[in-house]
Amino acid sequence: MNDLELQESLREIERQGLCRNLRLTEGPQSREITMNGQKVLNFCSNNYLGLADHPQLRLAAIRAIEAEGVGSGASRLVCGHMRAHQKLEARLAGFKGTPSALVFSTGYMANVGILASICERGDIIFSDRLNHASIVDGSLLSQAVFKRYPHKDMATLEEWLKSAGGFRRRLIVTDSVFSMDGDIAPLDQIVELAQRYDAMVMVDEAHAFGVLGQHGKGAVEHFHLEGKVDIQMGTLSKAAGVFGAYCCGSSELIQFLVNRARSFIYTTAMPPAIAAAATAAIDLLEREPQRRENLWKNSVYVRTELQRMGFSTLESQTPIIPLIVKDSQKAVEFSQRLLESGIFVQAIRPPTVPNNTARLRVTVMATHTKEDLDCLLGAIRTVGKHLCLI
Ligand SMILES: *Cc1c(COP(=O)(O)O)cnc(C)c1O
Repeated sequence: MNDLELQESLREIERQGLCRNLRLTEGPQSREITMNGQKVLNFCSNNYLGLADHPQLRLAAIRAIEAEGVGSGASRLVCGHMRAHQKLEARLAGFKGTPSALVFSTGYMANVGILASICERGDIIFSDRLNHASIVDGSLLSQAVFKRYPHKDMATLEEWLKSAGGFRRRLIVTDSVFSMDGDIAPLDQIVELAQRYDAMVMVDEAHAFGVLGQHGKGAVEHFHLEGKVDIQMGTLSKAAGVFGAYCCGSSELIQFLVNRARSFIYTTAMPPAIAAAATAAIDLLEREPQRRENLWKNSVYVRTELQRMGFSTLESQTPIIPLIVKDSQKAVEFSQRLLESGIFVQAIRPPTVPNNTARLRVTVMATHTKEDLDCLLGAIRTVGKHLCLI
């Protein structure tokens, strides 16, 4: 597209009320952030446990910079495999209880690299319709047949599995916590179907790592499915508060990815400071379970109160709480008015979510105080009434 065509497309996006713009925040990410010089309460970050600016993570990063420098110099396979990466991978495998672990630079790259290498022409991938975009992209890149089943619809999944015996391999892939709805995949049922119909299972724990399960290991721990999920992927950029992603599984799986995952091979290794900070984050996940307890307490409180006001929060069970507005422009206006009263909640519109389900995506943090939460709820009540939504 040339500039004229780009202008035309942008005008069309504008007409549909779907134009997106970057918003600048100043200072560290925490329960309160600064926008346009104004302090606002932050209810849209994935920094669930408040670790993004934690002193111990800062210190770990600084120490790693002093010991190993800033850049990693090359891809992991060339000469970029450093102590900090080795430590992080050993720590991840230990924490998750899997034989091996591999770190990718981002969750997006992990999903693309894993799916496009594990699956090939002649295979079939079954993917929940609400799975993350990176799962869609990785699946398409694999050239396997790609089927998206209706959200959490196990009957349809079973029907499709039944008639997929002719494919060389079958893979079921799901987010464990859905990023825009905040509900949890029925991973126990998925594993059962996979066993019955000889399929592999891959789970994306992006929003579950550090959040779900008694020790914060994710949905696999939550459902007690240790040893029954072939590929456990997750991110270090959300509850862990840093950046990057992991794949945990058998040593064969990891060795294969090192040899075949293009988004691992053909990219510069993660900076050592990031790896060191992520290792420090896992230490905190283990040592400070009260963060997770606060997170769950705060989530239950906000969700219950929003429902009491009469809002639909879909089937949210986690710190991700959608507040359904439906109309895109109204969702944007809602978000704008909240911001004017010092509350930052992003409006999420199609194509990120299905048509006519525009919403505010409220995310709760462990570090929000009761006053923060009441401030949010009060503002939502006022603006919601003003917009005739309740
Ligand atoms: C955020 C997210 C990703 C991407 O992870 P990044 O590290 O941000 O690239 C992948 N999958 C899901 C479900 C996510 O929510």
